[in-house]
Amino acid sequence: MLDIRGLHKVYEGSGRRVEAVRDLTFTVSAGELVCLVGPSGCGKTTLLKCMGGLLTPTAGEVLLSGKPVSGPPPGMAFVFQEYGRSLFPWMRVGQNVELPLKQKNLTKARRKELVADALESVGLADAAGAYPWQLSGGMQQRVAIARALAYEPQVLLMDEPFAAVDAQTRADLEDLVRGLWRERGITILFVTHDIDEAVYLGERVIVLSASPTVVQEQLKVDLPDERDQLHTRVAPRFAELRTHVYEQIQAAKRGIPQDAVTKSNTPPLH
Ligand code: ADP
Ligand code: MG
Repeated sequence: MLDIRGLHKVYEGSGRRVEAVRDLTFTVSAGELVCLVGPSGCGKTTLLKCMGGLLTPTAGEVLLSGKPVSGPPPGMAFVFQEYGRSLFPWMRVGQNVELPLKQKNLTKARRKELVADALESVGLADAAGAYPWQLSGGMQQRVAIARALAYEPQVLLMDEPFAAVDAQTRADLEDLVRGLWRERGITILFVTHDIDEAVYLGERVIVLSASPTVVQEQLKVDLPDERDQLHTRVAPRFAELRTHVYEQIQAAKRGIPQDAVTKSNTPPLH
Protein backbone atom coordinates (compact mmCIF):
# COMPACT_ATOMS: atom_id res chain seq x y z
CA MET A 1 0.00 0.00 0.00
CA LEU A 2 2.77 2.43 0.99
CA ASP A 3 6.25 2.13 -0.36
CA ILE A 4 8.98 4.47 0.88
CA ARG A 5 12.15 4.16 -1.14
CA GLY A 6 15.43 5.81 -0.30
CA LEU A 7 13.72 8.85 1.15
CA HIS A 8 16.12 11.69 1.79
CA LYS A 9 15.24 15.18 2.96
CA VAL A 10 17.48 18.15 3.47
CA TYR A 11 16.09 21.50 4.58
CA GLU A 12 17.97 24.38 3.06
CA GLY A 13 17.54 28.09 3.39
CA SER A 14 18.89 31.21 5.06
CA GLY A 15 22.39 29.76 5.07
CA ARG A 16 21.34 26.72 7.11
CA ARG A 17 21.39 23.15 5.93
CA VAL A 18 19.66 20.45 7.99
CA GLU A 19 19.75 16.85 6.87
CA ALA A 20 16.54 15.69 8.56
CA VAL A 21 16.16 12.29 6.93
CA ARG A 22 19.16 10.46 5.49
CA ASP A 23 17.81 7.32 3.88
CA LEU A 24 14.52 5.63 4.72
CA THR A 25 13.18 2.55 3.01
CA PHE A 26 10.20 0.56 4.27
CA THR A 27 6.76 -0.59 3.21
CA VAL A 28 3.35 -0.71 4.85
CA SER A 29 0.84 -3.31 3.67
CA ALA A 30 -2.88 -2.67 3.21
CA GLY A 31 -4.74 -2.92 6.51
CA GLU A 32 -1.60 -2.84 8.68
CA LEU A 33 -1.17 -0.76 11.81
CA VAL A 34 2.48 0.22 11.89
CA CYS A 35 4.10 2.38 14.55
CA LEU A 36 7.17 4.44 13.82
CA VAL A 37 9.17 5.30 16.89
CA GLY A 38 12.18 7.54 17.12
CA PRO A 39 13.63 10.31 19.28
CA SER A 40 12.38 13.89 19.06
CA GLY A 41 13.91 15.75 16.15
CA CYS A 42 14.75 12.59 14.23
CA GLY A 43 12.58 13.56 11.28
CA LYS A 44 9.28 11.79 11.95
CA THR A 45 7.14 14.77 11.01
CA THR A 46 9.33 15.42 7.99
CA LEU A 47 8.80 11.84 6.86
CA LEU A 48 5.02 12.04 7.30
CA LYS A 49 4.86 15.33 5.42
CA CYS A 50 6.77 13.76 2.54
CA MET A 51 4.40 10.79 2.63
CA GLY A 52 1.37 13.04 2.62
CA GLY A 53 2.66 15.04 -0.32
CA LEU A 54 3.01 18.20 1.78
CA LEU A 55 6.80 18.31 1.30
CA THR A 56 8.91 17.27 -1.66
CA PRO A 57 11.72 14.85 -0.78
CA THR A 58 15.27 15.85 -1.74
CA ALA A 59 15.74 12.32 -3.10
CA GLY A 60 13.84 9.06 -3.10
CA GLU A 61 10.13 8.55 -3.49
CA VAL A 62 6.87 7.63 -1.81
CA LEU A 63 4.45 5.34 -3.62
CA LEU A 64 0.81 4.93 -2.65
CA SER A 65 -0.72 1.82 -4.24
CA GLY A 66 2.14 1.90 -6.75
CA LYS A 67 1.67 5.57 -7.74
CA PRO A 68 4.22 8.24 -6.83
CA VAL A 69 2.90 10.81 -4.35
CA SER A 70 3.44 14.35 -5.64
CA GLY A 71 0.71 16.25 -3.80
CA PRO A 72 -1.81 15.36 -1.07
CA PRO A 73 -3.30 12.07 -2.30
CA PRO A 74 -7.10 11.72 -2.15
CA GLY A 75 -7.02 8.44 -0.21
CA MET A 76 -4.96 9.79 2.67
CA ALA A 77 -5.91 11.59 5.87
CA PHE A 78 -3.77 13.17 8.57
CA VAL A 79 -4.12 13.58 12.32
CA PHE A 80 -1.62 16.10 13.65
CA GLN A 81 -0.12 16.49 17.07
CA GLU A 82 -1.36 20.01 17.59
CA TYR A 83 -5.10 19.51 17.71
CA GLY A 84 -5.46 22.98 19.18
CA ARG A 85 -4.31 24.43 15.89
CA SER A 86 -5.86 21.84 13.61
CA LEU A 87 -9.55 22.67 14.25
CA PHE A 88 -11.14 25.93 13.18
CA PRO A 89 -12.36 27.69 16.33
CA TRP A 90 -15.13 29.59 14.55
CA MET A 91 -16.70 26.41 13.19
CA ARG A 92 -18.81 23.99 15.16
CA VAL A 93 -17.54 20.44 15.61
CA GLY A 94 -19.86 19.07 12.94
CA GLN A 95 -18.73 21.72 10.45
CA ASN A 96 -15.06 21.00 11.19
CA VAL A 97 -15.60 17.31 10.48
CA GLU A 98 -17.58 18.06 7.34
CA LEU A 99 -15.11 20.55 5.85
CA PRO A 100 -12.74 18.17 4.00
CA LEU A 101 -15.74 16.27 2.61
CA LYS A 102 -16.70 19.33 0.62
CA GLN A 103 -13.85 18.54 -1.78
CA LYS A 104 -15.48 15.22 -2.51
CA ASN A 105 -18.32 14.89 -4.89
CA LEU A 106 -20.93 13.92 -2.29
CA THR A 107 -24.53 14.89 -1.68
CA LYS A 108 -25.28 16.97 1.40
CA ALA A 109 -27.24 14.03 2.84
CA ARG A 110 -24.26 11.70 2.44
CA ARG A 111 -21.94 14.24 4.04
CA LYS A 112 -24.26 14.54 7.03
CA GLU A 113 -24.35 10.76 7.32
CA LEU A 114 -20.54 10.47 7.26
CA VAL A 115 -20.15 13.24 9.85
CA ALA A 116 -22.70 11.66 12.20
CA ASP A 117 -21.16 8.23 11.79
CA ALA A 118 -17.61 9.46 12.42
CA LEU A 119 -18.60 11.45 15.52
CA GLU A 120 -20.47 8.43 16.82
CA SER A 121 -17.39 6.23 16.25
CA VAL A 122 -15.25 8.46 18.47
CA GLY A 123 -17.92 8.76 21.16
CA LEU A 124 -18.90 12.35 20.38
CA ALA A 125 -22.34 11.90 18.86
CA ASP A 126 -23.71 14.72 21.02
CA ALA A 127 -20.94 17.25 20.37
CA ALA A 128 -21.69 18.22 16.76
CA GLY A 129 -23.13 21.59 17.78
CA ALA A 130 -20.34 22.59 20.17
CA TYR A 131 -17.35 24.76 19.32
CA PRO A 132 -13.89 23.14 19.65
CA TRP A 133 -12.90 25.50 22.46
CA GLN A 134 -15.82 24.24 24.53
CA LEU A 135 -14.26 20.75 24.56
CA SER A 136 -11.36 19.26 26.51
CA GLY A 137 -8.04 18.50 24.79
CA GLY A 138 -8.84 14.81 24.51
CA MET A 139 -12.25 15.57 23.00
CA GLN A 140 -10.69 17.96 20.49
CA GLN A 141 -8.31 15.25 19.41
CA ARG A 142 -11.30 12.90 19.01
CA VAL A 143 -12.84 15.50 16.71
CA ALA A 144 -9.64 15.53 14.65
CA ILE A 145 -9.81 11.73 14.44
CA ALA A 146 -13.50 11.91 13.44
CA ARG A 147 -12.63 14.41 10.71
CA ALA A 148 -10.06 11.97 9.33
CA LEU A 149 -12.47 9.02 9.54
CA ALA A 150 -15.35 10.84 7.86
CA TYR A 151 -13.07 11.34 4.89
CA GLU A 152 -12.99 7.52 4.54
CA PRO A 153 -9.26 7.32 3.91
CA GLN A 154 -7.45 4.18 2.80
CA VAL A 155 -4.43 5.39 4.72
CA LEU A 156 -4.37 7.33 7.96
CA LEU A 157 -1.16 9.08 9.01
CA MET A 158 -1.02 10.04 12.68
CA ASP A 159 1.77 12.28 13.95
CA GLU A 160 2.23 11.96 17.72
CA PRO A 161 -1.48 12.58 18.08
CA PHE A 162 -1.67 12.00 21.83
CA ALA A 163 1.53 13.68 22.96
CA ALA A 164 -0.32 16.61 24.53
CA VAL A 165 -3.13 14.89 26.43
CA ASP A 166 -3.12 13.50 29.97
CA ALA A 167 -2.23 9.87 30.62
CA GLN A 168 -5.78 8.59 31.18
CA THR A 169 -7.14 10.29 28.06
CA ARG A 170 -4.18 9.03 26.12
CA ALA A 171 -4.87 5.43 27.15
CA ASP A 172 -8.52 5.82 26.05
CA LEU A 173 -7.50 7.31 22.71
CA GLU A 174 -4.99 4.52 22.09
CA ASP A 175 -7.76 1.98 22.58
CA LEU A 176 -10.00 4.04 20.32
CA VAL A 177 -7.41 3.87 17.53
CA ARG A 178 -6.97 0.13 17.85
CA GLY A 179 -10.75 -0.34 17.92
CA LEU A 180 -11.26 1.79 14.80
CA TRP A 181 -8.45 0.04 13.02
CA ARG A 182 -9.98 -3.36 13.73
CA GLU A 183 -13.49 -2.24 12.76
CA ARG A 184 -12.67 -0.29 9.64
CA GLY A 185 -9.62 -2.05 8.22
CA ILE A 186 -7.81 1.23 7.52
CA THR A 187 -4.06 1.21 6.96
CA ILE A 188 -2.57 3.25 9.79
CA LEU A 189 0.92 4.66 10.19
CA PHE A 190 1.22 5.96 13.73
CA VAL A 191 4.23 8.05 14.68
CA THR A 192 5.30 8.43 18.28
CA HIS A 193 8.38 9.08 20.40
CA ASP A 194 6.88 6.86 23.13
CA ILE A 195 8.23 3.30 23.05
CA ASP A 196 5.44 1.83 25.18
CA GLU A 197 2.80 3.42 23.01
CA ALA A 198 4.43 2.04 19.85
CA VAL A 199 4.53 -1.51 21.24
CA TYR A 200 1.02 -1.33 22.70
CA LEU A 201 -0.57 -0.10 19.48
CA GLY A 202 1.42 -1.57 16.64
CA GLU A 203 1.36 -4.82 14.76
CA ARG A 204 4.82 -3.82 13.71
CA VAL A 205 7.24 -1.23 15.05
CA ILE A 206 9.76 0.55 12.87
CA VAL A 207 12.57 1.99 14.97
CA LEU A 208 14.23 5.11 13.60
CA SER A 209 17.68 6.31 14.51
CA ALA A 210 18.41 9.84 15.67
CA SER A 211 18.87 12.44 12.93
CA PRO A 212 20.14 12.07 10.18
CA THR A 213 17.61 9.31 10.18
CA VAL A 214 17.72 5.75 8.93
CA VAL A 215 15.61 2.70 9.84
CA GLN A 216 17.40 1.11 12.77
CA GLU A 217 15.14 -1.92 12.95
CA GLN A 218 11.72 -3.36 12.14
CA LEU A 219 10.05 -5.51 14.71
CA LYS A 220 6.91 -7.62 14.58
CA VAL A 221 4.80 -7.20 17.70
CA ASP A 222 3.67 -10.71 18.55
CA LEU A 223 1.20 -9.68 21.23
CA PRO A 224 -2.40 -10.93 20.98
CA ASP A 225 -4.83 -8.93 18.84
CA GLU A 226 -7.02 -8.29 21.85
CA ARG A 227 -5.07 -5.78 23.90
CA ASP A 228 -6.06 -3.87 26.96
CA GLN A 229 -4.32 -1.28 29.03
CA LEU A 230 -4.49 -3.30 32.21
CA HIS A 231 -3.18 -6.67 31.09
CA THR A 232 -1.15 -6.06 27.94
CA ARG A 233 1.16 -3.54 29.57
CA VAL A 234 2.11 -5.90 32.40
CA ALA A 235 2.57 -8.97 30.19
CA PRO A 236 6.15 -10.32 30.20
CA ARG A 237 6.25 -10.24 26.40
CA PHE A 238 5.32 -6.55 26.40
CA ALA A 239 8.24 -5.85 28.73
CA GLU A 240 10.61 -7.81 26.51
CA LEU A 241 9.52 -5.97 23.40
CA ARG A 242 9.75 -2.53 24.95
CA THR A 243 13.18 -3.29 26.39
CA HIS A 244 14.31 -4.45 22.99
CA VAL A 245 13.06 -1.30 21.27
CA TYR A 246 14.66 0.82 23.97
CA GLU A 247 18.01 -0.90 23.42
CA GLN A 248 17.73 -0.35 19.69
CA ILE A 249 17.08 3.35 20.17
CA GLN A 250 20.02 3.66 22.54
CA ALA A 251 22.23 1.81 20.06
CA ALA A 252 21.01 4.04 17.25
CA LYS A 253 22.02 7.10 19.28
CA ARG A 254 25.53 5.70 19.54
CA GLY A 255 25.57 4.79 15.86
CA ILE A 256 25.69 1.04 16.43
CA PRO A 257 23.94 -1.01 13.73
CA GLN A 258 21.08 -3.31 14.69
CA ASP A 259 23.02 -6.51 14.06
CA ALA A 260 25.53 -5.61 16.70
CA VAL A 261 22.75 -5.34 19.29
CA THR A 262 20.93 -8.60 18.55
CA LYS A 263 21.56 -11.31 16.03
CA SER A 264 17.94 -11.90 15.08
CA ASN A 265 15.18 -9.62 13.90
CA THR A 266 12.86 -10.49 16.78
CA PRO A 267 13.80 -10.36 20.42
CA PRO A 268 14.56 -13.71 22.04
CA LEU A 269 11.78 -15.81 23.49
CA HIS A 270 12.36 -17.64 26.68
P1 ADP B 1 10.42 14.97 14.68
O1 ADP B 1 9.03 15.06 14.15
O2 ADP B 1 10.97 13.56 14.69
O3 ADP B 1 10.57 15.58 16.04
P2 ADP B 1 11.09 16.85 12.55
O4 ADP B 1 10.76 16.15 11.28
O5 ADP B 1 10.10 17.85 13.03
O6 ADP B 1 11.40 15.76 13.70
O7 ADP B 1 12.50 17.56 12.40
C1 ADP B 1 13.67 16.87 11.98
C2 ADP B 1 14.84 17.86 11.87
O8 ADP B 1 14.59 18.74 10.80
C3 ADP B 1 15.06 18.71 13.10
O9 ADP B 1 16.44 18.90 13.23
C4 ADP B 1 14.37 20.01 12.75
O10 ADP B 1 14.96 21.09 13.41
C5 ADP B 1 14.58 20.09 11.25
N1 ADP B 1 13.48 20.80 10.56
C6 ADP B 1 12.16 20.48 10.59
N2 ADP B 1 11.43 21.31 9.82
C7 ADP B 1 12.32 22.21 9.30
C8 ADP B 1 12.19 23.32 8.40
N3 ADP B 1 11.02 23.67 7.88
N4 ADP B 1 13.33 23.99 8.10
C9 ADP B 1 14.53 23.62 8.59
N5 ADP B 1 14.72 22.59 9.41
C10 ADP B 1 13.63 21.87 9.78
MG1 MG C 1 7.28 15.72 14.97
